[in-house]
Amino acid sequence: MAGIYVHIPFCRKKCSYCDFHFSTTFSGYRGRMINMITKEITTRRNEFSGESIETIYFGGGTPSLLTIQELELILQAIYSSYEVTNDAELTLEANPEDISPDSLKVWRKVGVNRLSIGIQSFREQDLEWMNRSHNAEQSKQAVEWAQKAGFTNITIDLIYGLPNLSIADWENHLQMVFDLSIDHISAYCLTIEEGTALNNWVKKGKIHPAGEEIQSIQFDRMIELMGQNGYEQYEISNFARDQKYSKHNSAYWTGRSYLGFGPSAHSFDGISRRWNISNNAQYMQGLETETNYCETEKLSHQDRWNELIMTGLRTKFGVYLQSLYSLFPPDEEFLETLNFWKEKGMLTIQNERILLTPQGKILADRIASELFKTN
Ligand code: SF4
Repeated sequence: MAGIYVHIPFCRKKCSYCDFHFSTTFSGYRGRMINMITKEITTRRNEFSGESIETIYFGGGTPSLLTIQELELILQAIYSSYEVTNDAELTLEANPEDISPDSLKVWRKVGVNRLSIGIQSFREQDLEWMNRSHNAEQSKQAVEWAQKAGFTNITIDLIYGLPNLSIADWENHLQMVFDLSIDHISAYCLTIEEGTALNNWVKKGKIHPAGEEIQSIQFDRMIELMGQNGYEQYEISNFARDQKYSKHNSAYWTGRSYLGFGPSAHSFDGISRRWNISNNAQYMQGLETETNYCETEKLSHQDRWNELIMTGLRTKFGVYLQSLYSLFPPDEEFLETLNFWKEKGMLTIQNERILLTPQGKILADRIASELFKTN
């Protein structure tokens, strides 16, 4: 099985903390970009021949800016080039300002069955300095409309560790998740990235970032409250009720293959990683002139081993010993390290998988680094 990721590199405006690849001045070439993304999809049709596609994920950027015609063009290219299973998970990332009863109807009609809503915060003052295009009321209404339209698989993104976000404020955000009965959340701690407006404000002293201590209290509080309200932490930053895990992201975390289309999109075939150029003009030109628009890197066995450990340990699925041992047979040092953490109650081996215990999750990075292969 494999997944498809489509990167839509358009945004209405630039959020102050974001360093993803996108452009806000795309009106002159949006049609050309959509044509080039569909060209990439069809020209790479033989890369995963024989493998069925079980997940399709529209990310960005802002995929909810796509018109129905643009969405259909891309989907037609996918369905005509790949074998997509009937029950494939089809996720669309949508910003609250693009969500309306009409847009929801259209997305359902084209087959979107999972909606990922970029809420980030339910507080007006956060959304303002983040330069988001929506307000707090739209955050709430977007979820209610999506539920009313019949979406039964909804996830939202939230950010904690924000400047001036108290522990009580964060608890209020989480309470909103419970009140709105949202089945899945992805919650990330704010990071201040180079080249962003936020970084600039912090350097100039206009914004004072939250300290690590409060960020870690908010993380712990989230785990506690999510657990009390019936959510399972199936990955360090992801929580789901009723096993509504993201199939697409779970496939990344368990080392499965995926194809990524669009500028800056990454692909992985189990051996090599490939990434498209993060430049809209050069991406389109590369496809038009049939010249190179990507780079590839063959991962060494050591890279793959370390990736399996790093991503797998963060999830409830764990690290499959068979996948590791297909790269290197177990050596004494590895088995001793496993045993050491097992005796400390930080990990267990179940059904041929390494799993962290709740206490072990707090030390996930340290345990992972001790299980890595180094030269
Ligand atoms: S909408 Fe999303 S991708 Fe676009 S700037 Fe904001 S956070 Fe970044």
